This record gives sequence, structure tokens and C-alpha cells, in this order.
Amino acid sequence: MSHLNYETRLPLGQATIDHFLGLPAHPTKCQATYVWIDGTGEQLRSKTRTIDGGAPKSVDDLPIWNYDGSSTGQADGIDSDLYLRPVAIFRDPFLGGHNILVMCDACNHEMKPTATNHRARCLEIMNEVGHTHPWFGMEQEYLIVDRDEHPLGWPKHGYPAPQGKYYCGVGADRAFGREVVETHYRACLHAGITIFGANAEVTPGQWEFQIGTCEGIQMGDHLWMARYILHRVAEQFGVCISLDPKPKVTMGDWNGAGCHTNFSTEEMRAPGGLDAIKQAMTGLERTHSEAMKKYDPNGGMDNLRRLTGRHETSSADKFSWGVANRACSIRIPRQVAEEGCGYLEDRRPSSNCDPYLVTAMIAQSVLLL
Ligand code: ADP
Ligand code: MN
Ligand code: MN
Ligand code: MN
Ligand code: MN
Repeated sequence: MSHLNYETRLPLGQATIDHFLGLPAHPTKCQATYVWIDGTGEQLRSKTRTIDGGAPKSVDDLPIWNYDGSSTGQADGIDSDLYLRPVAIFRDPFLGGHNILVMCDACNHEMKPTATNHRARCLEIMNEVGHTHPWFGMEQEYLIVDRDEHPLGWPKHGYPAPQGKYYCGVGADRAFGREVVETHYRACLHAGITIFGANAEVTPGQWEFQIGTCEGIQMGDHLWMARYILHRVAEQFGVCISLDPKPKVTMGDWNGAGCHTNFSTEEMRAPGGLDAIKQAMTGLERTHSEAMKKYDPNGGMDNLRRLTGRHETSSADKFSWGVANRACSIRIPRQVAEEGCGYLEDRRPSSNCDPYLVTAMIAQSVLLL
């Protein structure tokens, strides 16, 4: 059988995996997969360890762990040990049973956040504005691609039929990769992630899921873990997830990918809250250029390729808002304007944004600065 390559052995391997993962859970031990953001501020890493004494109930039951930061773009080889501090627990939909996924803070030798760990600062801000009960919902757009970065469903030469039929599309000529989407949705529900919905997007091979509503720091924890699960699900199908806001192959007349961030406070959600929503625009306008630098992991450079003023986007250098307008920085959904309360949608964040940075920026702009 040595002539069989890995791909052709996979169907056989699947039965083997099913057998071993189907064995009864160990009576006293579980596996905890620690997940953290690496030095790119965009990619995730994980590693797994055994925990004794049953399923941990809270992060306080989990040990601080370490890793080699020189292999993740987070430290020099001569001083490479970094720490992982557990901050949120989810059920592990891959291993099942009482195994868990653990979102972690990456910290240096003084237990201070690493350069791409923006959770600690976000948590401070969320604590400061906690009395306003800030709710978030984020719409994660992404493209499913082959390992050679070619979008799923696209011909190897030339282009697919122009956009129009793909958004929420049904049928083998317009929906590419639904098995990934459905598996991810179920996996998120199992994990305990607050997933709101999912839909096919405007560009072929492009999809969206929404996380929310989440209060405060939970928004970042849930979206990062939902992304982790998406990468893992795609891995099982032999495809990859691109969070690039405008992959090169889509530079023509194709919509890019964003991460619209919906936001409200208790005051905005209560009757008459539209006034508070409109007042929020002043703060959001004031911090526009600072926000644009924080809304992608490359200081705003990634988003410049996407926010062109075309393809349902606003221009990157000008702040604007409007009711039901998808060519604005901030949109007030029509229903919100009609009901006189609800939430606003910040359409600027890039698909590869850090939700800790984005939610902190919005909370600060509207409630603190
Ligand atoms: P769109 O019409 O922009 O495509 P979606 O249906 O994709 O919107 O997503 C709506 C998002 O708004 C969800 O993530 C949901 O959690 C969020 N959301 C709904 N109500 C609120 C609210 N009051 N405050 C904050 N976010 C909200
Ligand atoms: Mn080792
Ligand atoms: Mn949406
Ligand atoms: Mn969308
Ligand atoms: Mn939206």
C-alpha cells in the first residue's frame, strides 16, 4: 500500500479516526487545546495538553502554560519562552466529550501582553464602559480557497460568471463549499459560541457568518474562537480560509471581505434610542483616521485595497453615515430608524481585523473619548 499517497488514504483513515474518537471518554482526564493569536495578529496557533481531574469548570482550574515564541513571530530565539493564560473555555467540537478549547492571552516573561495581544487593553475598556451594557455583533466575511489560494468554484483559467447570482444563492453553479459552512455552524453551536447566522456572499466562494450579540469582551473571545473552528473545519475538507479583505484574484469587479461590526448600548436599545445612536456619530467621526489604522492588522494598508467607495464600501479617507446606506462608514439599518431604537453598523473593519481592537475602538469613540 506504500504507493498510496496521503489524500487517497484519507477515506480509510476516517474510519480509523471515527473508531478512536468514538471510544468512551477517559474517566478522569480530558484534553485542553490552548488557542492563541500569533505574531501576525491575524493567524491562530494551538496546542493540546492533558488535564487531570475531569472537565475544568472555569479558567481558574486551568494551568498557565508556555510556548516557543520564536516560532510564532513573537520572541527571539535566545529569550523565546512566552506564557499562555487561559481566558475563555469552549467545548471542543472536534474531540467531543468533555474536551475543551481554551482561548488564551499570550504574555511575555513578565506576564504582560505580547505586541499582538490586544485583549488585555480591550478588557480594561469594556470594564470601564460595562454600565452601558455594550452589545456587539460581527459579520465575518471570508473566502474559501484551495491550498494554492484559488477560490473554490472558480475556473482555473478565466473568471466565473459576474456577481449577482451568488449572494444567498442556491445551486451547484452558485454555492461553493456549503459543507464547510454547515459543519462550521454546527461546530460553533456545540462549542457554545454565540453564532447568529450564516449566508453565501456576493463573490463566488465567499461566505459570511455572524457572531453575536455578545456583551463586552465576549465579542472578541467568541469571534476568535469561531475563526479557529472555521480554519480547523476547512482543514478537514482540504481547503483553506482566506480572511484577506481583497485577495489578488478578486481585484477586478468583485466584492471584497469585511467584518461589519454592529453596536448598541442599553440606551440605544431602549425606546427613543435613535437619538443616542445619532449622537454616537460625533465620536466615531472624531476617531475615524485612528480607527482606520486599527481595523486591519497592517495599520490600515489591507483595508485600502477594499474601501474604494465601490462594491458596497465607503472610501477609506472620509467618514460618512446614513440610514440603509451601504456606501457609508456607518449605516443605521432602516428598521432601526423606523422603530426609533436599536443599533448601528460600523462597515469599516476589514475581514482580517482583530475584534478586540475594533470593539475597544468603538466603545472608546462612543463612550469614553
Ligand atoms: P446585515 O443586514 O448587515 O447583513 P446581518 O444579519 O448579517 O446584518 O448581521 C446582523 C448582526 O447584528 C448580527 O451579528 C447580530 O448579532 C447583530 N445585532 C443585532 N442586534 C444588535 C444590537 N442591538 N446590538 C448589537 N448588535 C446587534
Ligand atoms: Mn518541544
Ligand atoms: Mn451580513
Ligand atoms: Mn456581508
Ligand atoms: Mn452588514
